[in-house]
Amino acid sequence: MKDLWMFLRRFAAPYKWNVVGSVVFNFLTMALTVFSFAFIMPILRILFNLDTESYVWKDWGSGQFQDVLINNFYWYVTQIIGRIGPTATLALMACALIVATFLKVMAAYMSDYCVIPMRNGVVTDIRNQMYSKILSLPIGFYTHERKGDIMSRLLGDVGEIEASVAASLAGLVKNPIQILGYLFVMVALSWKLTAFVFILLPIAGWIMGAVGKKLKAKSLAAQNMLGTILSTAEETIGGLKVVKAFNAETHMEEVFESETDEYKRLSNSIQRRWSLAHPMSEFLGTIAVAIVLWFGGAIIISGETAIDAPGFIYYMVIFYSLINPAKELTKVGYTLRKGLAALQRIDKILDAENPIKDPTNPETMPTKLKEGGRVKFQDVNFTYDGERYVLQDINLEIKAGMTVALVGQSGSGKSTLVDLIPRFWDVTKGTVEVEGHGVESYRVADLRSVMGIVNQEPILFNDTIFNNIAFGSPGATLEQVESAARIANAYDFIVATEDGFQTKVGDRGSRLSGGQRQRISIARAVLKNPPILILDEATSALDTESERLVQEALERLMKNRTTIVVAHRLSTIAKADLICVLQEGRIVERGTHEELIALNGVYRHLVEMQELRVKS
Ligand code: ADP
Ligand code: MG
Repeated sequence: MKDLWMFLRRFAAPYKWNVVGSVVFNFLTMALTVFSFAFIMPILRILFNLDTESYVWKDWGSGQFQDVLINNFYWYVTQIIGRIGPTATLALMACALIVATFLKVMAAYMSDYCVIPMRNGVVTDIRNQMYSKILSLPIGFYTHERKGDIMSRLLGDVGEIEASVAASLAGLVKNPIQILGYLFVMVALSWKLTAFVFILLPIAGWIMGAVGKKLKAKSLAAQNMLGTILSTAEETIGGLKVVKAFNAETHMEEVFESETDEYKRLSNSIQRRWSLAHPMSEFLGTIAVAIVLWFGGAIIISGETAIDAPGFIYYMVIFYSLINPAKELTKVGYTLRKGLAALQRIDKILDAENPIKDPTNPETMPTKLKEGGRVKFQDVNFTYDGERYVLQDINLEIKAGMTVALVGQSGSGKSTLVDLIPRFWDVTKGTVEVEGHGVESYRVADLRSVMGIVNQEPILFNDTIFNNIAFGSPGATLEQVESAARIANAYDFIVATEDGFQTKVGDRGSRLSGGQRQRISIARAVLKNPPILILDEATSALDTESERLVQEALERLMKNRTTIVVAHRLSTIAKADLICVLQEGRIVERGTHEELIALNGVYRHLVEMQELRVKS
């Protein structure tokens, strides 16, 4: 209950007018329902010729309101009978019933009409909140196993909320109002019978609840299973090339089928239980009706004046109508619990703290750095897991306009080192400075606005070439994009494509070659024109021919700015102002190419290894 209240406070608040509308129309529906049923009583009286009594008009306020109302209603009916005869009155009553029912269903429709935008709005809001949270969380949050989990939450759990919480919102308003209304009428008709009913209902409710409980545990298991199936399918599609190349189709099929089989088993059990709920509630309902029928009948037969036969039938109609909302309310309770469990899982992401925060009093970042920016590492130590230090005692000063190359074996910490500059991670110890201030003293967006990053794996989005280049430079003109493409050596191949700059690159740029993709990502960096450029093995995934093209593009890009380049090809490094050799997280050698060759240490060894490879 508390969870539900929290949920409503958080998500339903913007839709309060929808709630108000729904409540109003539900009350209207309720009143019209009771009213339309009320026509049945006089119809029955006329049919059974029960009305021997003669009614006289009573003034309002001359007795209990409800007695006067019923009396005057009957008086009116007898007046009509006297004037047009019983058959015609019956027809008139039937017409009145039709009109009242029409109004009732319209009111019911209007209450749904009010609730629907709220229900879809809540789900949309949750989805959008999730997405913007996903965008804001730091790179470090997304370890490999978390990625699949987050996808399944965005798809599965939000869907679950849509199916349960959101869908129950209407019932949450409607059913209590209906139950209250019916109970009110029942008490008005006969409080004795109603007191009796009150003993019956909780017993039936308890039996139904017992069925629901097991259902919850099982459907939770089924939901998890579905997540597993989803991620297997996704993994398979992503790795289809490998699956086929290693003839692993049968194996994958076996894995997948064992998962779907488990899901099928769970689903069978859930759906069987679920369909048991319907006959059971019908059976329990009928038992309740039978008992009330017996008890009420006994009252009438015993001649007590508490209720007469038509009144009793009306009572039974109302009572029968009560069963449905009561049943639905228990169902709402059960689905709500399922949905709130999904919300809890989503909250784990929504509440995840972002350790990369903007400072309260940020330094202003000089946006137009003339000669490129200054970067300084001071006593930097870094660990991913709190145990093993990936970087140790890094001291490095990079002056504006300098080109610094980082070399070292794979895993020596080069990527980690450059990731500290845009604050993809925060240092464990020490400081990283840009333009004389620590990186954490700038707003994150300001800090990143002065750097361009080109990685080994170019990331393209499923969009046009133009939009991929202009990504991050909103408002760029076609001329600017074209000139960026020229600098990046990408212009010629772009105009040769079918639609030129408007060609779609496909999922992750799959319609382009690796070299073409890289040149587009370079054009993106050119367009941004950042003072600080970070190139992390930008050419190492390329063949020799496209490497030459990319290399040319990079050299043009590196002019007039600070560049930190991680590379293992000598050609890239030899021209650098400073070369740092990393080994197990430490800078073990530094100097120019000539100096380091003369030093005859790790660098010379690396160079010789590579030359050997080139010759052979
Ligand atoms: P390089 O770029 O020089 O090949 P990296 O900086 O990528 O090296 O990695 C340095 C070390 O840090 C490696 O031992 C690697 O296993 C580890 N490492 C890299 N990224 C992560 C991460 N996200 N979480 C934990 N360890 C990591
Ligand atoms: Mg790396």
